Formats: sequence, C-alpha cells, structure tokens
Amino acid sequence: MKSFRILVPTDFSDSALLALEHGIFLTKKFDGELVLLHVAELPTITIHDFPSDLFELAREGGMDRMGELLEKQEVALPPVKRVVLAGTPSEPAADVIVEYAKTNEVDFIVMGTHGRRGMRRLLLGSVTEEVVRRSPCPVLTTRTHKDAWSLPRADRILVPVDFGSSTRQIIGVASRMAEHYGAAITLAHVVNLEYYPYYGFGSDAYPEIKKSMIEASEEKLIELATELQGAGLDVSWKTIKGHPAAALRQLAEEADIDLIVIGSHGRSGFDRAMVGSVSEKVLRSAHCPVMIVNTGDETEQLGIAA
Ligand code: ATP
Ligand code: MN
Repeated sequence: MKSFRILVPTDFSDSALLALEHGIFLTKKFDGELVLLHVAELPTITIHDFPSDLFELAREGGMDRMGELLEKQEVALPPVKRVVLAGTPSEPAADVIVEYAKTNEVDFIVMGTHGRRGMRRLLLGSVTEEVVRRSPCPVLTTRTHKDAWSLPRADRILVPVDFGSSTRQIIGVASRMAEHYGAAITLAHVVNLEYYPYYGFGSDAYPEIKKSMIEASEEKLIELATELQGAGLDVSWKTIKGHPAAALRQLAEEADIDLIVIGSHGRSGFDRAMVGSVSEKVLRSAHCPVMIVNTGDETEQLGIAA
C-alpha cells in the first residue's frame, strides 16, 4: 500500500509556514510522507540576456529556502520531499498544485487561507480558492489569526451537515481525522428559519414549522451519531438556529472546536465549479483550521470509518 501523502504548497509566507506546522503534525499522525511544494512563478516571455537557466536559479533558491524552513522546525520531522515546479501565466500556481495532487496520489493538501499578499483582503487568497475548487482530495486550510495561532492539535472536530447526498462522504473524512487525533466529533445542523417566511402559511403555522424542522434535524442527527458511536467514536450533536455560516462560527468558538470538516458544496450546489457560499464563509472566518472535502465531482475520497 502506498504511504499516506500530504502536500504543503508554500509561497514562503507566514500563512504557509503555519500550514507547514500543521502538515508536519498531520503527516506524523498518519505515519506518512510530506511533500513541500513551491511553484516558482516565471514570466513566459524569455527576455534576451535574461539568464537562460532562470528556472534552475529559481529551483535552487526555492530548495534552499525550504531547507531553511525545515531546519527551523523544533519538532522531529517525518519523511519530507522538497519539490520546486515552474508556474507560468498560462499554468499558474493553483493549476500546478492541483495537477501535482492528481498525478501523485496526494491524500490531503494543507495550505494557508492567505499567502504573501496576506490578510488585507477579506477574501480568500486566489491560489487557495482555486485549489479548494478543483482539488482531488480534501484541503486543510489554516488561517493566520492575529492572536490565535491554534496549535496543530485536534480534540474536538465540528462537522456541519445538511443531510445532502455528500453527508456521508464528509463524515467519512471527519471520522478518519477523529481516529488519528483521538478527537471527539460534534455533528451540527443549522436550521435557517428565514427560508420560511410567514406568507403562504397562516401565521399560526410558524411555530409549528419551526418545531418540526428542529425535530426532523434532531432525528437525523441522532441516526448519524448512533452509527458513528457504533464505530467507536465519541460523538455529540446539536441543532442550531440562524444564518449557517455565522451560527457555525459561533458554535465553533463556544465549543472550543479545533478543526471543522465541511463539504465544498451544499445541497443547493447550483454551480458545480464554485465552492458553496456557506463553506467559503466558514473557510475564511473560522477561528480554527478548516478541512474542506471536495464533493463537487465523482472524485474518490477517503472512505467512511470501518
Ligand atoms: P493573492 O495571491 O490571491 O493576491 P494571497 O497571496 O494572500 O493572495 P494565495 O496566493 O492564495 O493568497 O496564498 C494562499 C496559500 O497558497 C499560501 O499560504 C500557500 O500555501 C499557497 N501558495 C500561494 N502561492 C504559491 C506558490 N507560488 N507556490 C506554492 N504555494 C503557493
Ligand atoms: Mn499569492
């Protein structure tokens, strides 16, 4: 069996450094190998008198910087492979990263939500956004938070579920993480009552609808939780009310969650190429790392815990 392979793409930013710390920890947990990948972004037009071996220079520079990064780590390292590949305007960093993950059977990608341009923008970094959209494997994103460089550790994993067709796939990845970390799982479903305005119903119906939505959620959560408990996992569940992304972020903070495992597309999944709006908001606002499971295509993912 091939060993577990974790890919950490780096642009040598602080975010990518935090991703490396998580990547090292995770690789050791999974007893796997870590690939540190830098994409040296080169101009396509070769300028005369430019060193013809431009890429060779970039490669050597990248290798050295990666070596320094690894030397600075204060923990024992798992087996690490350093790779520098060329990126061009027609094949930018995100394409190179996704292609590498596909052809090298990468199991997880770990990367920063932001890179060298940093957190000035509220939006997700463009490389991460593109990788998350098209990755063949789950992507763990780490956000550099001013005061919370959360430690690469996970005692409590939050799994938001919408009971759509990819729920089991997402829970499968989360249970694998839970097993390796010895973490407890919290399943959460958000009931967004604003989808159900008064019109069309007698106003008396509103509390009834609310009650039945909450009851239905609890019933389905119990069913999923019982199944996972049967597989030996420590599981709790919660139905919360509000706007999904905000409610999840609040729950994650209050419940002291270390990792959120979420799908890339929700039930509405109106555009297969996009990342769902809830997932994206969670990704860029959560206080802890988020692992996003690509549920947008038929790509094979990790199986459910046996
Ligand atoms: P943007 O570049 O979109 O203006 P940004 O620099 O803040 O914003 P990204 O470039 O998306 O954000 O960086 C996010 C993560 O992507 C980094 O933490 C790193 O893991 C990865 N990354 C970015 N550029 C490269 C690269 N050239 N090679 C390898 N990994 C990269
Ligand atoms: Mn960047």
